[in-house]
Amino acid sequence: MKRIAVFTSGGDAPGMNAHVRAIERTGEKRGVEVIGIIGGYSGMILGHFEVLDRFRTANIIDRGGTVLKTSRCPEFEEVEGRIKAAHEIRKHGVDGIIACGGDGTFHGAHCMWQEHGIPIVGTPGTIDNDLWGTDFTIGYDTAINTAAQAIDKIRDTADSHGRLFFIEVMGRHAGFIAMDVGIACGAEYVAVPETLTDIDELYQRILTQGLDKRTVVIVGEGDELGGAMGISKKLEERYGVSSKISILGHIQRGGSPTVRDRVLASRLGAASIDALLEGKTDIMVGEMSGQITHVPLEKTWVERKPVPSYLTDLAYILV
Ligand code: ADP
Repeated sequence: MKRIAVFTSGGDAPGMNAHVRAIERTGEKRGVEVIGIIGGYSGMILGHFEVLDRFRTANIIDRGGTVLKTSRCPEFEEVEGRIKAAHEIRKHGVDGIIACGGDGTFHGAHCMWQEHGIPIVGTPGTIDNDLWGTDFTIGYDTAINTAAQAIDKIRDTADSHGRLFFIEVMGRHAGFIAMDVGIACGAEYVAVPETLTDIDELYQRILTQGLDKRTVVIVGEGDELGGAMGISKKLEERYGVSSKISILGHIQRGGSPTVRDRVLASRLGAASIDALLEGKTDIMVGEMSGQITHVPLEKTWVERKPVPSYLTDLAYILV
């Protein structure tokens, strides 16, 4: 394998740049040329390829976002789009691909292997931490630290005014961010997509805290009652309790990656090149209990990765 391409896709995540840098550096050491595909699957279809070297990947380890850019590309979800992409891959003499993204990106990568036999490995790049087969995903640690800083600030004002605040954090299908920051910020209640939110229980919790006291409720955006807005509305309808809502939104994606994310991104970058050189394909390269893991791409979305029960239990005890 002489030429390997890397791209970032779907939602951007802090640490993707550290990952690209590690892939380029590892490629150099292994005598492999590394190509960057600009703009995810859209760039693959359009043939936006660029040779990477140590100068192009210098001074990016601490930067948020992704220098390779990213995209959502509906065209790639169609067979014809993937035929165009495979044509470009072959035209540029690429022998193997590293796809950094979430489960959508992995679905696409799986198709490239199944339909075109192009060796491809995925690496977990998403702030949601919702991929099975790795303890943590690249970007998660930064996202929870960013969210925690923002929540601490909101708690100051909630405390000063004795108000009830619903703070919504990202996580369409998974409550990892909500549960971790809920514990880290001393929230009075945590609502996650994995469990049903009980408005009566929440109201009792608010009463225990005191209606005129600070109460911070952390809500994962995928909560079945409709996120922070939905829960706040239901509480008001049923009990006449008014509240403030703060949706943290895209602030959670940006910013300089934490040390943990930089190290994870670097380690998975090096390991992904090595996996391709060992002949592995159609897998995700992750990390579990400190060990590098190789798991079939399909398993990363078929298997559910639950929020660990020790965290849920802890949140219940501490609130
Ligand atoms: P993420 O990788 O962060 O989950 P998306 O779900 O937006 O982000 O997926 C990124 C891209 O992956 C999509 O824009 C699309 O091009 C491709 N993709 C997603 N789902 C599929 C699928 N079922 N088949 C082929 N490609 C897909």
